[in-house]
Amino acid sequence: MKHLILIKYGELTTKKANRKVFINMLADNIERQLKGYEIKIRKDRVRMYIEVEEKYILEVSKILTRIFGIHSIVICYPVDTNIDKIKEKVLALLHDISFDTFKVVTKRADKDFPISSMEFNHVIGGHVLKNIDCKVDVHHPDLVLKIEIRKEGTYIYTDEMKGIGGYPVGIQGKGMLMLSGGIDSPVAGYMALKRGVDVECLYFESPPHTSLEAKNKVIELASILNQYSGRIKVHVVPFTKIQEAIYKNVPDSYIITIMRRIMYRIAERYGKMRKCKIIINGESIGQVASQTLTSMSVINDVTNMPVIRPVACLDKLEIIEIAKKIGTYETSILPFEDCCTIFLPKHPVIHPLLSRAKEYESYFDYESLIDECISHIEVVTDFQKKYKDLL
Ligand code: ATP
Ligand code: MG
Repeated sequence: MKHLILIKYGELTTKKANRKVFINMLADNIERQLKGYEIKIRKDRVRMYIEVEEKYILEVSKILTRIFGIHSIVICYPVDTNIDKIKEKVLALLHDISFDTFKVVTKRADKDFPISSMEFNHVIGGHVLKNIDCKVDVHHPDLVLKIEIRKEGTYIYTDEMKGIGGYPVGIQGKGMLMLSGGIDSPVAGYMALKRGVDVECLYFESPPHTSLEAKNKVIELASILNQYSGRIKVHVVPFTKIQEAIYKNVPDSYIITIMRRIMYRIAERYGKMRKCKIIINGESIGQVASQTLTSMSVINDVTNMPVIRPVACLDKLEIIEIAKKIGTYETSILPFEDCCTIFLPKHPVIHPLLSRAKEYESYFDYESLIDECISHIEVVTDFQKKYKDLL
């Protein structure tokens, strides 16, 4: 008998018509995320079973807790259907778990087994009480030990581990995430992944005004996000010439407005080349001058592509809480300058006018600069090693 990890599906169970598509996508994602481990996946309408070697079982379970579309994860340990062997295995498992109260729930699928389920609960319960300092609580136990006795062998199940829910990544097609080194955009990316969007990242860099450290920080953030995806890519946009042109031609107060309009144009054009259906970013209403509703609408005017802003209505503290939970916060607060901060004017316009933005843009040939910039985008894809290091 093989060690098994049993997976219950997340929200996809409510989508009856698409169920099969969802389950297949989840299985593909699991296979991709577990590349390098020898596993075998079996799936049915309500559960998925993953066969895995015993020594990797905890490592693999940990990876599964970061895959969207999974509601819960249960490890099943196989043992021969022999009372002493079952007792021995139960103790070995429980020694690694901390709990005060427990109960045993036996299911006897093999009716030839000579002891009834109720009796067997007592046999195993008594054995645990004799060897471990704990109590039985049949109503609200800390731990439920499930034992399933079958002809071919017995399975012992631990408690359920919580999965992260959401939809399998990719089920909704692709989105282009504007990923800066800040706190907000990695959280926005995580939230989009959670809804099943396959995220690619776009990072605007302006060397030598921005440093290599700033770029590496963004790549580090992407590799943390990759734990929730397995196929993140970062597209690095050489933005220096455009930024310098903006700085030279546009009045100070409109620098950020124009810069962001051009970022959106690039995100849209390049996003379409990458088959993305939406742009995702970390804008949050009112956080800075470029994120007032007026600014957003003047900036958004350059594109018809839907722009999804998952953290638009969250407070900074709420965003930080998610950043800590998903593991991006510590990297995000490293102090490297972003291209948005280096040319920051003293008094950015809070309520820009669309007509002015258009007028200032006519002062230079941004279209050919955009063409050149897009043709020099560098793609970073190799996060596999990084991903392993993070385990
Ligand atoms: P963050 O904390 O994500 O950096 P922020 O509060 O600093 O956000 P802005 O600098 O105004 O806000 O940026 C708003 C959004 O624009 C970011 O969340 C990100 O999606 C995008 N953005 C900003 N700078 C860049 C960049 N250099 N490369 C890619 N996207 C960027
Ligand atoms: Mg920023």
